[in-house]
Amino acid sequence: EVRVRFAPSPTGNLHVGGARTALFNYLFARSKGGKFILRIEDTDLERSTKKSEEAVIRDLSWLGLEWDEGQPRCWWDFGPYRQSERNSLYRNYCDKLLEDGRAYRCFCSNEELEEMKEIAKLKQLPPVYTGKWSTATEKEIEEQLQKGTPYTYRFRVPKEGSVKINDLIRGEVSWSLDTLGDFVILRSNGQPVYNFCVTVDDASMRISHVIRAEEHLPNTLRQALIYNVILIFIGSFFKNITIFDALFCPCLIDLAPDRSKLSKRHGATSVGQFREMGYLPQAMVNYLALLGWVMEPKMNFLQLTSLVIEKFSIERVNKSGAIFDSTKLRWMNGQHLRSLPADNLVNILGQQWKTAGTLLESEGMLVEEATELLKDGIDLIADSDSALKNLLAYPYKLADVAASLISAYDSGELREALEEGKAGWQKWVKSFGKALKRKGKSLFMPLRVLLTGKLHGPEMGGSIALLYEAGKSGVVGPEVG
Ligand code: GLU
Repeated sequence: EVRVRFAPSPTGNLHVGGARTALFNYLFARSKGGKFILRIEDTDLERSTKKSEEAVIRDLSWLGLEWDEGQPRCWWDFGPYRQSERNSLYRNYCDKLLEDGRAYRCFCSNEELEEMKEIAKLKQLPPVYTGKWSTATEKEIEEQLQKGTPYTYRFRVPKEGSVKINDLIRGEVSWSLDTLGDFVILRSNGQPVYNFCVTVDDASMRISHVIRAEEHLPNTLRQALIYNVILIFIGSFFKNITIFDALFCPCLIDLAPDRSKLSKRHGATSVGQFREMGYLPQAMVNYLALLGWVMEPKMNFLQLTSLVIEKFSIERVNKSGAIFDSTKLRWMNGQHLRSLPADNLVNILGQQWKTAGTLLESEGMLVEEATELLKDGIDLIADSDSALKNLLAYPYKLADVAASLISAYDSGELREALEEGKAGWQKWVKSFGKALKRKGKSLFMPLRVLLTGKLHGPEMGGSIALLYEAGKSGVVGPEVG
């Protein structure tokens, strides 16, 4: 059975990269008829907060990535699903490793360890633990225990050879073990180390595939080592269970368009920020799914429920870094916004305009018309506000300007002014505005529309003077005067 997990550390908001990892796990599980599990990795007690945990849960739910097991929905089989509640399990496994000689007690003080590093540096060797306590006798150990010397548990790493993982995206990845050194799995204060907890969890929760960010590749090395040993124990606990094989398939890190690691300086990076900015969850999911996932061209617009699930295959995940481009995400949001059922969109925009006070209650019947008029020009719900404001400010009631302009034409007043070029225009337009009690935009917008037939363009005085000259010499333009 396929069992995958999303294992966030609740130390901040759900990053778009994390959301993509969650999504790929979700899609993988759904495409294989397996289970998607949410595990909270709060071993870093100082940095983990309840608030972050709740935020991650809220954002995953908002994206529609329903999990089958995990917080806050606990299934007794493999729970609890929060690492801080699994300490006794980790301790048990540590002791089991110790009993089996797979781990040993290390009584080195911090000073001693520092010294080891210094010596290694001088000898230009990798700064690894020398294995001082790996060969200690029962008697030596007993002495230290008697004295009450603090100790850690270290995992016994084979001195040579390599460890391999079967990476579904990259194929086989292997590391040579000679520079690793025996590493700590239980601290002297009794706290198990992160890599150890993860491995115990993945093994005991019977996770079949670990789909994670590429940045975890170095952790994966240690985890794979412990994992292979733990599986043997598990196999002996549950006699009738076939031992499963975990496949590690790191997803790639999300990069910003300049190919640096995506961070705050690139703007919004968390799912919560995009939600607050009015992005639709379906657009977010669609965009993240396409990010680094090679698919047939033209398959752009996907809904989580049907298409994505059927089409997802982990082998198609791109090997090179995926670039997070918020402009594309915005565009995609527009596509999803416009594909909403008509009355749904009317409701959403109506609500937005009401909240923002752009459209008064009494103008409610205009919502449908306004939605129809504006929907093609907006990618975000929030854009609809300025779009509507512009629309309502649009006409500048042209009638009085048009009438006065015609009479200025007819009387030859405008032509005379234009004979003096740009300066003449400026003088004329000033008195023209004064007579109409208009200035600024409300004068120049209608004038521009009436004279040039366009809403925008280069500076008016120069343009009109140029048009006049061109018209006179018959090059282009309208008949003037
Ligand atoms: N807790 C880790 C994180 O949030 C998860 C790593 C993993 O996939 O094992 O980065």
